Amino acid sequence: MAQEHPMTTLFIPTESRAGETRVAATPETVARFVRQGLEVLVERGAGTAASYMDSAYEEAGATLCGPDSWGTSDAIAKVQPPTLEEAGRLKRGCILVSMVTPSAQLELVDALKEGDITCLALDLIPRITRAQSMDVLSSQATISGYKAVLLAATHLSKLCPLLMTAAGTVKPAKVVVFGAGVAGLQAIATARRLGCVVEATDVRLAAKEQVESLGAKFIVVEGAEDLEDEKGYAKEASAEFLERQREEVARRVAEAHIVITTAQIPGRTAPVLVPDEMVESMQEGSVIVDLAVESGGNCTLSKPGEIVKEHGVTIVGTTNLPATVPADASGLFSKNVLALLKPFIAEGALVLDFEDEVIAGCALTHGGAITHDRTAALLSPDEVKA
Ligand code: NAD
Repeated sequence: MAQEHPMTTLFIPTESRAGETRVAATPETVARFVRQGLEVLVERGAGTAASYMDSAYEEAGATLCGPDSWGTSDAIAKVQPPTLEEAGRLKRGCILVSMVTPSAQLELVDALKEGDITCLALDLIPRITRAQSMDVLSSQATISGYKAVLLAATHLSKLCPLLMTAAGTVKPAKVVVFGAGVAGLQAIATARRLGCVVEATDVRLAAKEQVESLGAKFIVVEGAEDLEDEKGYAKEASAEFLERQREEVARRVAEAHIVITTAQIPGRTAPVLVPDEMVESMQEGSVIVDLAVESGGNCTLSKPGEIVKEHGVTIVGTTNLPATVPADASGLFSKNVLALLKPFIAEGALVLDFEDEVIAGCALTHGGAITHDRTAALLSPDEVKA
C-alpha cells in the first residue's frame, strides 16, 4: 500500500475567510504527523493569528512554504471549506480535510467532484462513541458555549456573582439557556462558575440529568421525552410543543439577565424560541446571545455578525465564536484532525480505508463522485430518484 502512495505531503494553509483566526494543525500535531513519517508543509504565517509561530512549526519538523503548495500537496488540512478559487488549485486526486457544510456549498462540492478530490468533511463525521475524539462540532461548540457567557457578562449592565459588600448586597445574575447540547452545557458550566443562577430547557429529557449535574435547574416542558431521535439529536418540535415551551419559559426569560440560545435541529432552520414579545418582556440592560444565529436564529431580533440593542436588550449575533479563542480552538480542532487521520498513516503514507465507518461517513467526494447520499440528492435529485 505504501508503495502506491509514497510519502504523503500534508499541507496546512493560512485560512483565507475573513475573521478566521484558527489553523488546522498546531506544532504539537505537526510533530505527531512528522513522527508518523509524513512530510508536513506549513504556509508561512498560517498559525500566527492563533499564537502558533512559524519557528515553533519548524522546530516541530514542518517545512515552511508559500501558497504554491496548494497545487503540489497530496493532502491538505484546513478549518474552513476552501473557496472555489482555492479548490481549483488543488492537485487532482488529493485529500482535503476541512469543515464543509455541504448543503450550503453545493457549487464547491461539484468542483471537488470534478477535481477528483477526496474530501473528508469534518462536520459529517458520524457521532459515534469511537469518533468522539474526531468531532469538531463538539470541540468547537464547547468553545462557543464558553465564549457566549463571557460575551454576555461583558455586555451585561450588572455583575454575575452574588456579592456581599460593605456597600450592600449584589444579587446574582439569572441565566436561561435554551438547548442543553454540547454548547448549552458548556454555557451552563461557565455561567455557574461565574456565580450565576442558571435554568435551562431542552426538548430532550435526557438533558435534564446533565443540566442538574452542573448545578442548574431544568425547565420541564410537557412532551419533551418524545423529541429525541435514535441518535440522541432533537427532532423538530411541533408548533403546539413550541407554544407550551414558550409559556413555560416566558416568565423565566422576563426575569433573566442573560439568555443564551443554542437550539438547533440538524439539517433544519433553527427553531424560533425567543420572539419579539419575549425580548420586549426582558429587563432593561439584559443580554441575549444567539448561538444559532447562522442557521436562522433562535431569537427573531438577532442579526448574524452584529450586536444590536432592541427594547433595551443587547442581542449578540457574533458569528464564529471559536475564532475568538483561536489558540485553544485550533488546539482542539487539530487534535480532532490528527485523531481522524492517524489510524490511516503507515510508513509515511496516508492511505484511507473507505470501509471504515468514520471515513465512509465523512467522505463527501471521492474518485470523481459525490459519496455522501444526502448531498448527492441535493445536487441531482432526479438522478437519485431514478
Ligand atoms: P445541536 O447543536 O444539534 O443542538 C443543540 C441543542 O438544542 C440540543 O441539545 C437539542 O436537543 C436542542 N434543541 C433543539 N430544539 C430545541 C427546542 N425547540 N427547544 C430547546 N432545545 C432544543 O446538538 P449538539 O449539541 O451537537 O448535540 C446533541 C446531542 O448529541 C447531545 O445529546 C450530545 O450529547 C450528543 N452528542 C453525541 C456525540 C458522540 O457520541 N460522538 C457527540 C456530540 C454530541
